[in-house]
Amino acid sequence: MRICVFGAASPTIDKIYIEKTEELGKLLAERGHSLVFGGGGNGLMGAAARGFKAGGGEIVGVIPKFFDDEEIEAICDFCTELVFTETMRERKQMMEDRADAFVVVPGGIGTYEEFFEVLTLKQLRRHEKPIAVYNVRGYYNELQSAMNGAMEKGFIQRHCSELYLLSDDPEEIVKLVEANVGVGHSVKELKRG
Ligand code: AMP
Repeated sequence: MRICVFGAASPTIDKIYIEKTEELGKLLAERGHSLVFGGGGNGLMGAAARGFKAGGGEIVGVIPKFFDDEEIEAICDFCTELVFTETMRERKQMMEDRADAFVVVPGGIGTYEEFFEVLTLKQLRRHEKPIAVYNVRGYYNELQSAMNGAMEKGFIQRHCSELYLLSDDPEEIVKLVEANVGVGHSVKELKRG
């Protein structure tokens, strides 16, 4: 399967996040999966790419041309395939289209945006791909609390909690990705309860 990994571009993060993301990437590659990602060479994008490389997996980077032109970010220099797009939107669309599943590792604004986009599209049944959130050292506990709070207050329907898995266990993440169970609820149930 082609696994799209969304994750931090920032290089100023604790090395535990780097190590755990590399390990997960390696594990996924050893299971025969390939990587689709934002093409960044730093932070957890770089870590995911190194992990997939160590596990012998293919690596597809998708990055807007202006990142290169404006030297915004170091680009991963060992991608099997590097695709340049014009815009951020085009890049996200390409990553989503090429992926069979999404794995969200710790990240900042870009990662949150990517997670919520694929989650929103799944809620609307525009795709049925698995979404796993890798909760390294509880990084996403606050996200989960915010989601639970919104559910309790009726802003998000209960079934939406089934649209993604939050876990700190790499094996559980691999299992979810490979099980590919689909949505199992109508848009009506997911949007209106
Ligand atoms: P962030 O979580 O804000 O560090 O953003 C990282 C996520 O957004 C990645 O999954 C990328 O797809 C995209 N992204 C944002 N900034 C960059 C960057 N400097 N280089 C490559 N991708 C980026």
